[in-house]
Parts: sequence; structure tokens; C-alpha cells
Amino acid sequence: MPVNSESQFQGVIDEIPHIAVDYFLNVQSSLALFLSHCHADHMKGLDSHDLYHTVRTKPGLFIYCSGTTKKILTDWPIYSKLAPYFKVLELNHTVKIDFPGGYCSDDNSSKIGFCVTSIPSGHCPGSVMFLYEGPFGTVLYTGDFRIAKGDSRKFQAFMSNPSRPEYGLKTIDHVYLDCTFCTDSAKTFPSRQTSVDVTIDLVSSWIAKSPEHKVLFTLAGRGFGAEFLFVEVYRKLKLQVHTSDFKHQIYSNLSDIKKAISRQRTTSIHACETMVSAICSFTIVTTV
Ligand SMILES: [Zn+2]
Ligand SMILES: [Zn+2]
Repeated sequence: MPVNSESQFQGVIDEIPHIAVDYFLNVQSSLALFLSHCHADHMKGLDSHDLYHTVRTKPGLFIYCSGTTKKILTDWPIYSKLAPYFKVLELNHTVKIDFPGGYCSDDNSSKIGFCVTSIPSGHCPGSVMFLYEGPFGTVLYTGDFRIAKGDSRKFQAFMSNPSRPEYGLKTIDHVYLDCTFCTDSAKTFPSRQTSVDVTIDLVSSWIAKSPEHKVLFTLAGRGFGAEFLFVEVYRKLKLQVHTSDFKHQIYSNLSDIKKAISRQRTTSIHACETMVSAICSFTIVTTV
């Protein structure tokens, strides 16, 4: 079971040498590319001219990702030109990846093709794991993930026979594991729901003090990943979260999130980047 640190991962799956995952530098010889989610440390080279040139000039070379990831990147100006080259993998569907003619090699059966299943990873909008199956065995690339104990049985792709649960789970021969929180300091890790509940209690008590009491989610404004919090804030407090115009453009095409966010600067709750004081005028700002 090889374990790679995501920060050092350079896209190579040893068992499937002709693909690249979450790393898009020097992919001229790759036959298929995979993107697990829209976080910068998994998108190295995605904005490079070399990648754009490679996908334009190599018929049949695609960047496989989830439908939500494709939506996000299509609305993200520096990536939108790649839109024709993103190929959506439906969640929990197994797809055969066949390489274009000329790439197959009789002396290496693993080059003929393999199956891949994208599995929701619970990390941020559109995030998935990839389960590869082929002559090389079964390989799971987790990307960044957040799954509670016992969740694996909810995912058909992990089951030996989805219609016969009693057969149990598949054997995974190789795992490429996100080790971000494999540290002593993260031995106790609250669930997402617990974290959100605590945050909403704090927000609620703060903004109840006066209309001038505002909240700024500082970390939440930068990347993607706090959308679950925005949705829960809206659901429980009936307040929309102010986001930057850039984020608003992207969220407006994500049906689960768009109702929870707003362009209105007058809302009490903000996630509009770190330079919020230049964008929104606050009397009091707290950060969560
Ligand atoms: Zn991530
Ligand atoms: Zn704001």
C-alpha cells in the first residue's frame, strides 16, 4: 500500500504509468488526465500553456473530472478555455477509458485501457476519489477526502457486488492516500456537522448583539471548501453570505449553493476575501 504525501505528489500512479492525476506539468506523454477537485495543490500546471497546447493537439486526450468540477472551471476565466477538454465522469458510474488508436501496445496489456469510477469524496464541491480497475489490479486515489467511519459501504464502487451487500467490500490493491491530517495534532477530528453547528452558534450569538455586529469567514473566502457552511448558515439563520464577484459567478451555476450566497454587502455574514474592509464597510468584524 504505497502512501504518497499530497504535497509531494507529482501525478504519477505507478501501476498506470500513462496517466496523470492532479498534476498537469509535463504531461505531453500522458494518455489520460484526471482532476480530483479544484484546490490549487491539485491543479499544478492546469493553467499552463503547455497543457493547453497538449490537449489541443492530442486527439482523445481529456481531463476527467466530476460535473461540478467542470462547471466551476468553465466559469473560472483562466481555465475556461479548457472546457472542451474536460470530460465528466458521472458519480459512482464505472467508465472504460480506451486509449486512442496507435497508443495500444500488444506487449503491455495495461495500455489497452482500464475502468475508472469517480466516488464523491466529501471534501469540497465536485471533489471525487478515483477507483481504477484493470490488469494492474485495483488502485484507489483518494485525493483530499472527508468520510466518516462506516461510510464506505454507502459507495457502490467499493462493494464486490452492489446487489449482494453480504459479499462485502472489494480488495483495494494499492491506495494513494491523502495524508494531510495524519498528524498527532489531528487525532481527534470533529465531524463537519459538529464544526458547522459550533460555528453557527457562535455566529448567531454575535450577530444578535446589534445590526452592526458582522462576521467575516476569513479562510472560507479564499478557496473552495466552506460551501457546506454557507448552505447551513442560510438554512438555519436564513441569512445569505456575501462572496466576491468571482465566487458569486461560479456559485450561481451550482444549484445547491447559489441560494446561500449573495452579492449584497449589507448582509451580516461575509466570506468576501481577506481585503474585506476595502470591499465592505464594517463597524465590527470578527473572524471564524
Ligand atoms: Zn483539497
Ligand atoms: Zn462582504
